Formats: sequence, structure tokens, C-alpha cells
Amino acid sequence: MTPRRPTRPVFVGDDRVGVVQIGGGLPREGVPSDPAPVTVQTMTAGYTHDIDKCVAEIHRLASAGADIVRVAVPERKDTEALPEILNQSSVPIVADVHFHFKRALEAIEAGVHKIRLNPGNISDRAQVRAVIDACRDRHVPIRVGVNEGSIVERKDKHKRLKELGAVFSEHKHGYMLAIMVAKLEEYLELFTELDFHDVVISAKSMDATLVIDAYREISSRFDYPLHLGVTHAGPKETGCIRSVAALGTLLAQGVGDTIRISYASDPICEVEDGLELLYALGLRQRVGADLIACPTCGRIQVDLFSLVQDVRQKLADEIELPIKVAVMGCVVNGPGEAEGADVAVFAGDHRGIIYVQGQRVANVPEEEILDALLEECVAFQDRVRNGTAKLGDKKVEIVPPDPIGELGSGWEKMAAERMGHTDLTLGNT
Ligand code: SF4
Repeated sequence: MTPRRPTRPVFVGDDRVGVVQIGGGLPREGVPSDPAPVTVQTMTAGYTHDIDKCVAEIHRLASAGADIVRVAVPERKDTEALPEILNQSSVPIVADVHFHFKRALEAIEAGVHKIRLNPGNISDRAQVRAVIDACRDRHVPIRVGVNEGSIVERKDKHKRLKELGAVFSEHKHGYMLAIMVAKLEEYLELFTELDFHDVVISAKSMDATLVIDAYREISSRFDYPLHLGVTHAGPKETGCIRSVAALGTLLAQGVGDTIRISYASDPICEVEDGLELLYALGLRQRVGADLIACPTCGRIQVDLFSLVQDVRQKLADEIELPIKVAVMGCVVNGPGEAEGADVAVFAGDHRGIIYVQGQRVANVPEEEILDALLEECVAFQDRVRNGTAKLGDKKVEIVPPDPIGELGSGWEKMAAERMGHTDLTLGNT
């Protein structure tokens, strides 16, 4: 992992919902700063003017782990709803302003914590100046976000053809990358002229490779924090791969300070997958259990995939500490692959042996594995909380049987014979 790229820090929030820092590592107004953990954002799916539904959605997204939630304010009735939404929100709220700068002014007046402007939609300098002035007065940061879909001139054909002539010859993406960066640069000139630097920037595309190149380019040109995202990534099933390819590459190279994974599905998935990406890269301290499990494998003798999904759901409901839990299909390679797990189950012929930090604690039939495993996880969490156990303190230590020979029913007898004892025999606790 490359160390995080230092940026100016930006602060989003207030005393009531708390203040979330984006980026950092460079001084702000002469005060040194450290980089903040990468944050996760998402956007509500319902109408903002439907206050109760909007607030319920914000609470749901915040409970799933969203650090910041964005709401759309395309109409006056949406900004009119903001004071009550802000009053009830538990996380900082960003107002996404579409075509009318007045929605930005109204949102700022309502007390919103951050504004998102799209240079492709609001380009009049006087209007942008008015928004900047209002944000400065209220200490409200602005995200300047260019999108591939809105950046190309569409009304003026002559202008569009001229823009499409712009090329970054060293990049495979040619004109599109050039236009995105040029538009962002041009827009930010006004911010610099007005000495307004409370800014986060983004440059999104639906093409993961263009996203990587665009963020690399803008990270070398600006010291503002970066909001990473692949726009219009598609349904979760494919959008996940697209997003992780782009955002994972950038984050591993130290680029990116806040992320939004965009799916054509429930925004909860955006939050869960965003957090999982940050956990996987070690960029956030995990909240909740860390579950590992076997892939497809010919040695598995229980319905492992259903079990894993059930375990995942139960752990999400009951476990708050980063307990490492392993659900392994066999005891042959399982112990080695579950190295470091706090709680582990190794399946055999329709049974499961459960270990807690190296101690064998149960041997149960397949239909009891879920409850027994969860019970051990909850008990272990209690012990960690009361100080009688420590996460990751001991390894799962099982001497596995020699994985030679035919596995299947009766393998445990063969394994026990090979090991010269019966301790691992399934069915004997
Ligand atoms: S632990 Fe056993 S079941 Fe799981 S992948 Fe390894 S060999 Fe296969």
C-alpha cells in the first residue's frame, strides 16, 4: 500500500451530528492536520421533500455505516424540507444541486453541511460566485464534481466539436479525460480567485480505467481531498467489480479520501460494499465480525454456502467487535486456512467441530452448527468486553489429519488412524 496522499483537510458537519473530516495531512490556515480515515458516502433514493421517508432512509444508511449522506434538492420543496431533515439527521448531509444555483443558496440557508456542484450543470460565474460567498459565510464546503455524462457541451454543437478536439495524447482516453480535467481546472480557477479552498473534488466516469486515469491526473494537479466514485456503475452484481477495480486501485496507491460506490440497487449495498473495500485494504478499523469461509471445494460435506450466508446475517445482527470467524468446509486444510480466527467451525460428514482460540468447545450435527457457532461468538464477545479474552490472542491450533486418501464418509476414522488418536473423530466431543 502506498501512503495516503496528503491533502487539505475538509470538515463536514456540526456539533449536533458530529464533524467528519475528509482528507488531511496538509496544514489548514496554518494548523497542521493528520489524514482522516477514508469515509463512506451514499445517496438517498427517495424524494427529499418526503421528509419522513427521507429521514428514515438517512437513519437506515447511517446505521449501516454511512459517514455522510447526500440528498437531491432539484426543487424548491426539497430545500424547504431540509431544515426538518437536518434537525432529525444523525450524520452530516450533503445537498446535491442540479441545475439551479438558487437551490444551493436555499440549502446553505437551511444549514446543510456540504454542497455538491456539477460544473456541467451550473457554469455561470456570477451564480457560482454567489454560492461560494454563501458557503464561506457559513463554513460550508463544496464538492466540485465533474461527470463524464454531463461534462460534454450538448447545446452548442460548434463548442462541442471544439471541445472534442482536446486530447491528452499520453492517455488512452484522449479527449474525454482532457475535457474532464480542463473543465474541473477552469471551474476551480474561480474558487482560487475568490480564495475559497474548502473544496473536495471528483471526476467520475462509468469506465473504470478512465476513473483511474482521471483521479491520478487530478491528484497530481490539486491538493484538495478526492471523492472517488464510478458513476452509473450498473447493478450491484457487475457494478461491484467495476467500482472495486477502480477505487481499489486508486486507494491502494494512496489516492482517495472519501468514496461512494454507486449501484442501481438499494443504497445500503453501497455502504456495505464501500466499508468492506476499506476494511479489505486496511483503511478503516473494522466494525463487526470478519468472516472468512471456504470457496467451492470437493471436500465439503455440509451445505456450507447456506450456512455461510446464515452466519453472515446473524453476525451482522449480534456482533459488534471485529471478531475473526472462520466457517471451513473440512478439517484437512481448514485449520491452516483459518489461521488467526478467534472462533472457527470445521465441517465434516454433516457435523461441525467448533474451536474458540484453539480450544475445542463443541461438536454438533449440521443443523445445530449455526446456533452453536453464534452462541460461541456472542460468549467470546462478552469475554472480550469484560477483559477476560483478547481479540486475535491465540491461534486456532489443530494438527490436521494427513489429507491423503479418499475423503468422504468415514474419512474421520481414517484420519484418526493416521494420527494415532481419536481426538478429531467427529461425533466424539
Ligand atoms: S478448508 Fe477444506 S473444504 Fe475448505 S477449501 Fe480448504 S480443503 Fe476445501
